[in-house]
Amino acid sequence: MYQYTKKAIEEFMNKAECVCGVVSYEVTGEIEKLYQCHCTLCQIQTGSSSQTGLFVEAENFTWSSGKDYITNFKKESGYSYSFCSKCGSTVPNMFRTGDKYWVPAGALVGLSNARIDNHIFVADKAAWDEIGGEGVQHEGFYPVYV
Ligand SMILES: [Zn+2]
Ligand SMILES: [Zn+2]
Repeated sequence: MYQYTKKAIEEFMNKAECVCGVVSYEVTGEIEKLYQCHCTLCQIQTGSSSQTGLFVEAENFTWSSGKDYITNFKKESGYSYSFCSKCGSTVPNMFRTGDKYWVPAGALVGLSNARIDNHIFVADKAAWDEIGGEGVQHEGFYPVYV
C-alpha cells in the first residue's frame, strides 16, 4: 500500500490502486477537470452522495497490475462500472467511445490542481447532499467527457 506522506504523494503522483492493492494503474499528464455525478444510481453504487471521476485519453493510461481481477457490471440502460472482484473498489473502465478511460477520482493521489468543473444530475441529488465549490451545476446529463 502507498503511504500518503507528502514525499510519497510526489513520488506516486497519479498512481492509484484499489483497497486490497491487487488492481493498480497509472495516469500520466496533468489532471485539472473532474466531474461529479449525483444521479440515483451513483448514490447507490457508491453508498454516498455522488461519484467523482475524470476521463483520461487511452495513451495516458496504463494498467500496472490486477487486470484479471476486474469485473464489469452493466445495466440494460447502459450504466456500467468496473470493480476489483477481491475488494469491491471501483476501478477504471474503458469508455464506450474506445479512446479514453473513465477513472474514479478518489483513488488518485496528487490531484492538488484538480477541481470539479461540472456537477451532473443535480436534480436527483440526495436531500442531504450540499454541493459546494465553483463547478457548474447541471440538472441532468451534460457531456463531461468532451
Ligand atoms: Zn482490490
Ligand atoms: Zn451517476
